[in-house]
Amino acid sequence: MFPVGAYARASEDKALRANAAGWREIGDQVAEQFKDMDELAAELNLTITRRYSDNHTPAGDPRVIRNDFEMLLADLENGTIRGVLFYHSDRLVRQEYDAARINRLFQLNPRYVGRAVVGGTDLATQEGRSMLTVQAAMGGMEVYSTKRRVTRRNKGLAERGHMHGAPRPFGWAEDRRTLHDTEAEVLRQAVLAIPDGLTVGEIRKQWINLGYEPTRNKRKPGTQSLQHSTVEARLVNPRICGYRTYLPQAERRNIKRPWMPEFVIRKDGRPVMGDWEAIVSPEEWQACVATIEERQRARAEGRAPHSTSAKYLLSGIARCGKCSFPLMSNQYSKGTTSYERYGYRYACLTTLGGCGGVTRVGPPMEDLVETAFLQEVRRSLGMVVEQRSVDETQHDARLSEIDQEIKQVSDRRREKRIGMGTALDLLEELEGERDELNRQRRRLVATKVRRRNASPSLLKEWMGYSVPQKKAQLRELIRAVMVHPAGRGRKFDPELIEIAWNEDDHPS
Ligand SMILES: [Zn+2]
Repeated sequence: MFPVGAYARASEDKALRANAAGWREIGDQVAEQFKDMDELAAELNLTITRRYSDNHTPAGDPRVIRNDFEMLLADLENGTIRGVLFYHSDRLVRQEYDAARINRLFQLNPRYVGRAVVGGTDLATQEGRSMLTVQAAMGGMEVYSTKRRVTRRNKGLAERGHMHGAPRPFGWAEDRRTLHDTEAEVLRQAVLAIPDGLTVGEIRKQWINLGYEPTRNKRKPGTQSLQHSTVEARLVNPRICGYRTYLPQAERRNIKRPWMPEFVIRKDGRPVMGDWEAIVSPEEWQACVATIEERQRARAEGRAPHSTSAKYLLSGIARCGKCSFPLMSNQYSKGTTSYERYGYRYACLTTLGGCGGVTRVGPPMEDLVETAFLQEVRRSLGMVVEQRSVDETQHDARLSEIDQEIKQVSDRRREKRIGMGTALDLLEELEGERDELNRQRRRLVATKVRRRNASPSLLKEWMGYSVPQKKAQLRELIRAVMVHPAGRGRKFDPELIEIAWNEDDHPS
């Protein structure tokens, strides 16, 4: 163990918290300096045994005695510590006199370590000590230290959720806090679509079709469009659910593409929230990140093909009948009979957060859903042709009845034939029924419009559709396919597959 001290100082710290004890008494600036010194100590394999803090104390005023600085000198003198770390030389000294006192101790003890986090000061060398004197004489070389304080403040701001000078993040307006008119929704849809089965590659294609270009300065020479990694980085960015992140300088240099979910700032174990508008909820963001991570793992282990979801009709549409989690496609083990016959199944995967309680063989399930879907399309097209389409006026008679009844209740109340309480009960009941019928009416209108737009060519072209095209069509009518648990090894049972249609006027 090589014991050293850590010295921090701020001449003015507005963030000083007055009444707390111990560490909490130290203001933010000082705490941040210590944090950096901890990192430096770890890098240099030193142990910080004592912390010296002169918060709110100027170093350039000869009349001011810095208590902790005096203590530091004494401890260096008697060998309690064998060196000192500080953020920058101007935190330690700003007068030639103080520089000379420090330098004397390091001249006497050539093995002492005296290092700054920034500015490169090394008091074990003659140049380092000369520089300390020169910098002290020049008042800490104001030009450099101002620049450095800006950097320091930028780091502080990042922790508070601001970031200076960085390009506007995709999804937010220029103020970086309010949502961008169109990008926010595009990003939201994409984040929700990932656990639903869409791949990053498919989202990249969508975005390119929408005309999104790489952020400025990010475009590599020779590339014409969005990078896959750029799209992925946007989808997993903790910022989208409001979490603050901080990527330390050292990480920025060492990791080519940091996985930002690992750099969420936490306080007492909980993520720190930023002061910008979030695009999705933390749960939605987590589902997206978990799905992408699972796919990366699968790829790394050579398990699943690159674009699992695009290949399988019902991934993301089928859900677990036990826990409602989306089912994902999953290969049977090679060499088994099931693998030979069907190849894959759909499963509620615990690795993604499901209950693991449901698996179902893939192809028979897809056949069943496809057949039911096409039947429904034929039925709805038939209705359009016969002009017997959805009747949105079916509740209109009852709606005018309700209006009448409301009027009657009011009349009877005015004539004092019923009490106030009874009248209110009756009115609330009638109004509730009216609101519900109006809601149904709106849904019927929506269905009617969609059916009118449904193309009869769908039936003819269906067989030629790609899986993503089919999926898009299925989603028009099918909200989800609930797959209910079956006993192990049981034969495929159509009764256990429940299709939840988008509207309530489906064939039952
Ligand atoms: Zn489940």
